[in-house]
Amino acid sequence: MSFSRPQDVDDRRACWVCFASEEDDSEASWVQPCRCRGSAKWVHQNCLQRWIDEKQRGNSTTKVSCPQCNTEYIIIFPKLGPLFYILELADRIINRMCPFVAGGIFLGSVYWTAVTYGAVTIMQVLGHKEGLNMMERADPLFLLIGLPTISVFLILGKMVRWEDYILRLWRKHSSKLPLLNYFFPDGVTRPSRIPADTIPLSDPISATRVLCGALILPTVATIFGKLLFGSVQSNFQRTLLGGVAFITMKGVLKIYYKQQQFLRQANRVIHDYKEETQPQQQLQP
Ligand SMILES: [Zn+2]
Ligand SMILES: [Zn+2]
Repeated sequence: MSFSRPQDVDDRRACWVCFASEEDDSEASWVQPCRCRGSAKWVHQNCLQRWIDEKQRGNSTTKVSCPQCNTEYIIIFPKLGPLFYILELADRIINRMCPFVAGGIFLGSVYWTAVTYGAVTIMQVLGHKEGLNMMERADPLFLLIGLPTISVFLILGKMVRWEDYILRLWRKHSSKLPLLNYFFPDGVTRPSRIPADTIPLSDPISATRVLCGALILPTVATIFGKLLFGSVQSNFQRTLLGGVAFITMKGVLKIYYKQQQFLRQANRVIHDYKEETQPQQQLQP
């Protein structure tokens, strides 16, 4: 074959992938796919195909360029029947749509969960019969918008950190609040240092805590209402009173706990290290 015979020095073919020359394999088909000249000009068709496969990593639409001169390789596909192109288009459209459809399904199920939760909460707070009656009388559109907002408001309410606010006020004006100091005598002592603040609600665990705490509040309020205000006739009033009692009690405990944590951090002391006494001290309870 005169076509593949080397004409000059520049045209002496050697594959830049496998380094084989024309003499090594006279059957192989060659290609000069880019602007490179000299030793990088020629490459085996098969070697370059393998190299492109490696670069594409299974994605046949990824564009591949020469690593030396950055020329994009011109890849020509054989012509196929119309059915193939229709299927390819359908495949691409389905791939594009699926994330949106899945997102929509997810949002829809969250919405319907919120609607169900709202309805259950109304029956819990007003009583089963009264709740059902009220929802039957209400405008359907109002229910579709109003029921899911119940959980939204509960979560937003849970995110208001009123205990922290009171605690900060208390630390600032502790001398002017004799009542709180009476209940928490430790609060009066001035801490020797201000400990580093721990930042809550920044990690996903406390986010789930906010969610759980908010959604369980109506149930807890109902239980507290029945336990503490059993004599109140109206379901709504009883649950409301139970909720207020629970939130107040929990708030007081939380303030106490946080203040104790604060004082423990503030008054910690780092001890001297003594080689002989250290193990004995650890043994003693
Ligand atoms: Zn080769
Ligand atoms: Zn090149």
